[in-house]
Amino acid sequence: MTEVRVRIAPSPSGNLHIGTARTALFNYLFAKKNQGKFILRIEDTDAERTSQAYIDNIFDSLKALGLNWDEGPDVGGPYGPYTQSERFDIYPKYVQELLDKGFAYECFCTPEELEAEKEEATKNKKPYVYSKKCENLTEEEKNKLRAEGRKPAIRFNIAKAQKAFHEGTMLKFDDLVKGELHMDTSLLGDFVIMKSNGSPTYNFAVVIDDMLMKISHVIRGEDHISNTFKQILIFEALGAEVPRFGHLGMILAPDRSKLSKRHGATAVSEFVEKGYLTDALINFVALLGWSPSDGQEIKTVDEIAQDFRIGEISSSNSIFEYDKLNWMNSHYIKMLDIEDLKERLKPYLAKYDLSELTDAQYTRMVEVTREPLTLLSDITDAVPYFFGEDVEIEPKTQTDVLDTEVSQDVLKEFLRQAEDWEFTEECLHEKLEAFRAQYKEKGIKPKVTMWAIRAAVTGRTCGADMTAILAILGKEKVFHRVKKAIK
Ligand code: GLU
Repeated sequence: MTEVRVRIAPSPSGNLHIGTARTALFNYLFAKKNQGKFILRIEDTDAERTSQAYIDNIFDSLKALGLNWDEGPDVGGPYGPYTQSERFDIYPKYVQELLDKGFAYECFCTPEELEAEKEEATKNKKPYVYSKKCENLTEEEKNKLRAEGRKPAIRFNIAKAQKAFHEGTMLKFDDLVKGELHMDTSLLGDFVIMKSNGSPTYNFAVVIDDMLMKISHVIRGEDHISNTFKQILIFEALGAEVPRFGHLGMILAPDRSKLSKRHGATAVSEFVEKGYLTDALINFVALLGWSPSDGQEIKTVDEIAQDFRIGEISSSNSIFEYDKLNWMNSHYIKMLDIEDLKERLKPYLAKYDLSELTDAQYTRMVEVTREPLTLLSDITDAVPYFFGEDVEIEPKTQTDVLDTEVSQDVLKEFLRQAEDWEFTEECLHEKLEAFRAQYKEKGIKPKVTMWAIRAAVTGRTCGADMTAILAILGKEKVFHRVKKAIK
């Protein structure tokens, strides 16, 4: 195979998982690095678990991450359709081919019969493998079963395929990430490739699609390794070229268990809603298994693509460190252009009336509050005091700061002196410095003086630069709040 063609093949039974995003990224990077094609295929054969909302979420999330596909359900391509449910008429032909070649057979076992086999295996403490009861049914026996109203499923004959293409029962392949992997295929059991209702199973549909879409490299999670052995045998049974496979380690939570909802967000869209930037997310997931050669971790997807080598991906599991993602996100927020940041913050400021601020005031508010943001959503709780006439005072701020004699004195004096001040940052800076100095002479620490003003105006004991806050709010609002704080 000359052209590199890789794919991401999500099943739309949920929103795009962060782990799937990493698999998509590594496929995308591999395609980019090799001037190949990156293909999106929707594997929606499980109709009960599929929903259009999940399909839309997968599209939107991949796009938001910048992982644009060359061929896919929406953009089409030479080997479409790219949605499995639209390909149902393609599969029967290949089932027939396998039946004709003797690599598949009809199985008339009922669910009850199969359940009994499984129970028997459990009783004997043996791993369950289908008994092959139906492998050698005669035409007469099959007709009899059909006459009983039984509809056959089709099973793949593992042993036959193994025998036809390999010596012994051991199947080996050279994994792009993990090196040589092998399995005793006699442990696999003849699995169903087409159910009695005519719908193909994952292991079969995926091979037919990868074959027809000329996929050259299959890069996916290591949870698929046992499937890969089954799939290799199907490729061989169909006389098709077997793609190269690469299996990525799993992504684990910091407690080493499977990453799940109880650890925090898991879907890309959840991370985005929480205020993570997609640039930070994609940079972060790239580092789950891949390390930059120059040790410089902050990188764009294009920079990563230049440095990316599939053989250098770590074959072990990666730990999803939320703290590291948070650090990375805060870094990306710091790097954002102010106008861009102003726009991105707006959804998180929906509960405030932004029209209270001029554009210049809004700009300044963002400038003085952006520094500590880890998530874009942190802005919501960082800025309430920039809006409305009154301000909510934290109870502790009331008792520990505003109620003290010193504070009450500071506030009264502030009202008296600030009457003549111009409320620009420059002027306020100078005036407040002098104001603090007066109190310092009386033995009051500058920070105590400022606490009083901050508490009255913002309701808090810490926050953004005080001169900027006063200038943005303006004299009228500041006076109103200070008066309210005086007993
Ligand atoms: N639909 C499968 C999944 O979401 C795809 C696996 C594969 O890449 O073959 O796990």
